[in-house]
Amino acid sequence: MLHIKHLSVNVAEKQILNNINFEFNSGEIYAIMGPNGSGKSTLAYSIMGHSGYVINKDSSIQLNGEELVEMEAHERSEKGIFLSFQSPLSLAGVKVNQLLQIALHGKKDALTIYKEVQTYSKELKIKEELLSRSLNEGASGGEKKKLEVLQSAILDKEVLIFDEVDTGVDIDALKTISEFIVKHKQNKIIILITHYNRILRYLRPNKVLVIAKGELKKVGDYTLAEEIEKNGYDGLINN
Ligand code: ADP
Ligand code: MG
Repeated sequence: MLHIKHLSVNVAEKQILNNINFEFNSGEIYAIMGPNGSGKSTLAYSIMGHSGYVINKDSSIQLNGEELVEMEAHERSEKGIFLSFQSPLSLAGVKVNQLLQIALHGKKDALTIYKEVQTYSKELKIKEELLSRSLNEGASGGEKKKLEVLQSAILDKEVLIFDEVDTGVDIDALKTISEFIVKHKQNKIIILITHYNRILRYLRPNKVLVIAKGELKKVGDYTLAEEIEKNGYDGLINN
């Protein structure tokens, strides 16, 4: 369980998140929605431990009872947090297999990694040819996101946070990615930040959280996403 208590965060001297409280449970999918600039990415980076995000001293982020707030990003990664970037970068000269070997530093051997890459890339419909190139080199938006999801599965962390995994992804890729995430969600906490309802049709999140102006305004089930699609955020935020 990932337990966030009284989470307030400042970025560049400005308060962005204000007293967020929430419990994320294993095996469940959570969607985080909210207007632009509401603090969704800030929440993701704060959980991951990005150094520019200054967490208030009363805040707590616990993974299975262990406090993470004093830990740096690489330590939190060791404890089981994975964050997929909104805009994945390319890595010249490094292939996905090599990157995973470095990241896993001996936790899985090269052959296991190779086999998992083969299996999962088939499930994700990633072209073989893309795997033999440098990471993300010449990859489309959808292919980059698929490669992020592939890495998340092989790194096998407990908490997977995807920041706008659906941005720039066509409908077929979206369906493939969603089906993959649902298939592999066991014993994991999946947190998806999204602007759109369309990915949620496939993912059927257990809970939808709405963040606005740095506060957790509303928590609901899947129907909350439909309500937002129909009526926008105004009604939710102002009452
Ligand atoms: P969202 O992901 O919901 O669109 P963000 O978490 O990216 O929102 O941003 C929330 C607010 O924090 C915005 O007002 C944004 O301008 C501000 N912010 C985010 N990152 C920085 C930064 N590095 N420096 C200054 N302000 C930032
Ligand atoms: Mg964002």
